[in-house]
Amino acid sequence: MAVSLPLDYLQDMLLELLSIHSPTGYTDPVVRRVSEELGKMGVRYELTRRGAIRATLPGEVYSPDRAVVVHLDTLGAQVKELKENGRLGLTPVGTWSARWAEGARGSIFTDSKLFRGSILPLKASGHVYDDEVDKQPVNWDNLEMRVDAPLYNKRDLLEAGFNVGDFVGIDSQAELLPNGYINARHLDDKAGVATMLAVIKFLKESKMKLPVDCHVLFTISEEVGIGASAGLHGDVAEMVTIDNGTMAPGQNTIERGVTVVMADSSGPFDYHLTHFLLHLCRDHGITHARDIFRYYRCDSASAIESGNDIRTSLITFGLDASHGYERTHLDSLNSVGQLLVSYMTSHPIFKRTKSAHISLQDFPETRKVPVATRAADEPDNVAQLPLDEAKTDRGERPRDDSKKVMPNASKEDTP
Ligand SMILES: [Zn+2]
Repeated sequence: MAVSLPLDYLQDMLLELLSIHSPTGYTDPVVRRVSEELGKMGVRYELTRRGAIRATLPGEVYSPDRAVVVHLDTLGAQVKELKENGRLGLTPVGTWSARWAEGARGSIFTDSKLFRGSILPLKASGHVYDDEVDKQPVNWDNLEMRVDAPLYNKRDLLEAGFNVGDFVGIDSQAELLPNGYINARHLDDKAGVATMLAVIKFLKESKMKLPVDCHVLFTISEEVGIGASAGLHGDVAEMVTIDNGTMAPGQNTIERGVTVVMADSSGPFDYHLTHFLLHLCRDHGITHARDIFRYYRCDSASAIESGNDIRTSLITFGLDASHGYERTHLDSLNSVGQLLVSYMTSHPIFKRTKSAHISLQDFPETRKVPVATRAADEPDNVAQLPLDEAKTDRGERPRDDSKKVMPNASKEDTP
């Protein structure tokens, strides 16, 4: 059954978050704003040394618990060079094409002051360069930032306080439309953060009970690959990351629902947790799809790579032109929120994972087809039962190998 999330709050929060520059490495202002919001809602939270936020929504049992993760940092740039022509050479923060930087407006944060400016190709004027403008290669060496101040040479830049390494925040150019489309840069992952905050607000106000503690982790360095490498509680048994899905030909991500990701560049996500999330979608009538992302990693990868023995998964909102001129739809954020509510209010998939080391008896079983046996009479059984018929055991299957056949066995093969 669908719950009614505070979507007006979600949109207001999203617009506000998009107005706060937070390139990886310069995230303190957004961390302060989100912390303030959590405080207002009466949510207990703490900051890690580096400034990630770990909030806790208490459940009936405090351990083993679960984590949901979003990232506060976005793409951006840093000053690479103070140029002789009074402009700034840039290097990207995070992975994004120089193509999407051309024409961007942004803020440069020097040690003492904030400047505004535009990122432009070196040959920016059609009246001067004619069709050479179209022949310039797309790369960051071919761009420079024009600062809106009377700066004509390197000495002017130095005297104004510019330095190599100054952070550049790229404006989001956010626009919400009445039909639900949301256009902006940095929807990755501020749309995820706003959805998470709306879910927290809903859970607080509706006083819905959580069966176990849920830690909400707001990470600050996902775009450079080290998001959730630290900050997880030791007894977190399962973790769901919320990030952007990839809309493109050949991809299966949907624009108006939630997409459960089966694998990304770091490999397949946890089988049991992923299928449990799919089961929740079906059970609660949440529009959903499955997808695999090819050039993609998220906070789940950094959590596993840094040695956490936990089950991880990734759920996403549909995002067109990710890391470029991004667009999502409010329906998609609502679906992600619906899934989060049903996940956070459900029991953990395996209750016995309190201790990190469990016996084979307690370990979940995955259905299988024996390789060596073939049954003549029921070839249709190859299709097997869908997992959601095992609602009550949440993915665990009783052992029954008697009626299974090899997936590629045909009638002729049968003795
Ligand atoms: Zn992201």
